[in-house]
Amino acid sequence: MPHFCDVAVAVPLDMAFTYSIPSGANPVVGGRVLVPFRQQRMSGIVLDLHDRPPTVKTKNILHVLDTEPVLDEQLLRLGRWIADYYLAPIGEVFRTMLPLGAEFKKKIAYRITEQGHMALHLAGMSGSSARSQRTPEDQLTEFRVLDFLAERDWIAEPSLRSSTRASRALLSGMVRKKWIAREDVSGARDATRTMKVAVLLSVEEKIAEEEIDDRSAGDSPAVERATRPRTTLKLNDNQRTLLDTLAAAGGRIPVHTLQSLDIPRSTLSTLVKRGLIQIQEEPAEFHVSRLKVQAKPFAFELNPPQKEALRQITESVTAKTFRGMLLHGVTGSGKTAVYLAAMRQVLDEGRSSILLVPEIGLTPAVAADLHQVFADEVAILHSALTDQERAEQWHRIKRGEARVVVGTRSAVFAPVSDLALIIVDEEQDSSYKQEETPRYHARDVAVMRAKMAGAAVVLGSATPSLESYYNAKKNKYALIELPDRVEKRPLPEVEIIDMRQEYEETGQEQVISRKLAEEIGERLAKREQVMILLNRRGYSPVVLCRTCGKKLECKNCAIAMTHHKRDRRMECHYCGHSAPVPKQCAHCSSEYVYFLGTGSEKLEELLHGMFPQARIARVDRDTVRGRDDFERMLAGMNAGEIDLLVGTQMIAKGHDLHGVTLVGVVGADSALGLPDFRAAERTFQLLTQVAGRAGRGESPGKVVLQTYFQDHYAVQYAAQHDFVGFYEKELRFRSWMHYPPYSALANVLIRSEKMNDALEWSGTLGRWFEKTRHEGIRVLGPAAAPIVRLKNDYRYHFVLKAASREKLNKLLREMLAEAARKKIPRTQVIVDVDALWLM
Ligand SMILES: [Zn+2]
Ligand SMILES: [Zn+2]
Repeated sequence: MPHFCDVAVAVPLDMAFTYSIPSGANPVVGGRVLVPFRQQRMSGIVLDLHDRPPTVKTKNILHVLDTEPVLDEQLLRLGRWIADYYLAPIGEVFRTMLPLGAEFKKKIAYRITEQGHMALHLAGMSGSSARSQRTPEDQLTEFRVLDFLAERDWIAEPSLRSSTRASRALLSGMVRKKWIAREDVSGARDATRTMKVAVLLSVEEKIAEEEIDDRSAGDSPAVERATRPRTTLKLNDNQRTLLDTLAAAGGRIPVHTLQSLDIPRSTLSTLVKRGLIQIQEEPAEFHVSRLKVQAKPFAFELNPPQKEALRQITESVTAKTFRGMLLHGVTGSGKTAVYLAAMRQVLDEGRSSILLVPEIGLTPAVAADLHQVFADEVAILHSALTDQERAEQWHRIKRGEARVVVGTRSAVFAPVSDLALIIVDEEQDSSYKQEETPRYHARDVAVMRAKMAGAAVVLGSATPSLESYYNAKKNKYALIELPDRVEKRPLPEVEIIDMRQEYEETGQEQVISRKLAEEIGERLAKREQVMILLNRRGYSPVVLCRTCGKKLECKNCAIAMTHHKRDRRMECHYCGHSAPVPKQCAHCSSEYVYFLGTGSEKLEELLHGMFPQARIARVDRDTVRGRDDFERMLAGMNAGEIDLLVGTQMIAKGHDLHGVTLVGVVGADSALGLPDFRAAERTFQLLTQVAGRAGRGESPGKVVLQTYFQDHYAVQYAAQHDFVGFYEKELRFRSWMHYPPYSALANVLIRSEKMNDALEWSGTLGRWFEKTRHEGIRVLGPAAAPIVRLKNDYRYHFVLKAASREKLNKLLREMLAEAARKKIPRTQVIVDVDALWLM
């Protein structure tokens, strides 16, 4: 046995670490070992076994966790490629690839005790306690820990420590004081996860309901509350809000969702003590769907273009060498049937395939179809799986029990053997890009994995990304076209409404134009279904003071807060912070605060007013909380129980609804005003996708597209269903501006909670970039990021554009080394290679 092994440990450092192998231990390359790292024990992946003595003293590995590799040679290579290409710490890459964290990690968790609650209560009243000589800083940290645990169940040590910055010693001290309890929760707890649910007790439920009714009926709730004789219920505003929220939610709410209300945590405990609310523990259940799916035989009857597409794919699979294909099929052309037929053939040959779908694409109905075609040989990996379930699926795949894998982004790492085919559906979808370290793009990783495996890869889309279509045009991928809808159904007619003209003619800003209103009325009269897209949730996106002109911004972000009327709160859509609805301006105390603009919640209300008879449903992240909600909404549409569906881009993606004959698009072009070079492409894709929802059944469809940018080419080409026209025009802009696909692009973001640090660090790196020779690379910046403050961080960035990817990555690597020399923390320098967002 060699004497040393190199181990990738999941820490934010761009290197592996060398350990010595004690006699008797037999680690394997691609297997996991437990190693001491700083003060902790961590697991890592063995990358190499060797006899090269390192220059520094090494520690022994503690345990060998696997006798067989968990990552085969191909996945190890893929991981190294990702670390290299995306400049991501290698240990973090492997942690992302391997969903087995829950299995062997010793898990310590903490919970607050009754004494802890009491201490928290006292600290809140007196400000500080003088019971020891501990530093004020320690007391503050203790307070943070108690506050954090106050309404949560068992919290794992890593998340507790990262949220409160408490040291282990401090936590041990708190355990000794019996403020918190500590438990080893390795293994068993995952299987029976529970959650706390707040339940409104019945007597009071009635009172709370009455209040809500009163309030929505009366126009001045404050006055009414004061003058109306109350029964025995004396409540402060926070308690009242909490009870109202609970009542509005039907009397039960998981405790963790109440935390978004921005109400002191003690409020809930007080209400529990007063007997108004009870906390119950319930199993946090998991299920694919509660709805029964109808069994229907899957039809593999393909039309000639579909057959030709299938032929090309299977030919590539049989060749057993890498081949990339771009399947460009208009909306409704039957791409999914081609995917499934190809995967069926691969399975019949005893080989494996992976189908990647966007986050929103994996509904229970899709899962049901998959089970129909592949029975038990399919493993479905989606974001709602618990760690335990994910690990189970991983083992099934590893054992070869499931040779068809369908899943979102990380399914690209599924440990299948004899991989023959990877399909990336809706390859342009931005959910394939992971927006945290490692910032990989699953589509590009899929192409690389197929290359390493000698497999075929199919990228499918109605609106391919510029990059992929460009690659096809350059013959890097074979281009397969499905130019027609199935059964020769026509693409919908698109009518553009110029909203500036609408304003001139009606004298006021309209949300729904006269034409769209008329069309909706006609469809409803014919009992046909209508879908309206407004890609902005909430009621009003802006609250403005008419006296001083300031907007209400999030306290953590440079972002206007959105008014959510039903929930009676303001919310930041970037960090989730919520605040009460302001009665006066926070800056100048003026009472002239105005709520401006329209979100999906307001649009729904507006449509109710215009079409009181219509059955209206809304789909956005406020109405769709779980997978069931979404599925129920789609089922309601298919069953004809909904006349009018309002929603954000969630309604635009891939759903096959047959009764929709009219699609209205309201304000989908607002993205065109953003300082982002992909804005036109995104708008074109969204407009094409949503227009594709119309006329998928017997009756032809129509789209009414309201816009303030009616001359913009993204709008014009989308209206003409002309992808190639859009592509050629957009490509010219990219070429002039040296943007992808004409350059490799990276965004380097410097962030810190302290503005001075962020400024100083970006200045340091800016000077270094200036001094360094880097031919053929343009460095823009440092500049304030378009969103200069986000989630409490101040943000500055550089945009790098290079003709050569090798040179770009070399420069980035040197920049990271410089940052390390200048003691800039690695976690505060974010390198985003092939960034999708420059905001
Ligand atoms: Zn003001
Ligand atoms: Zn925010």
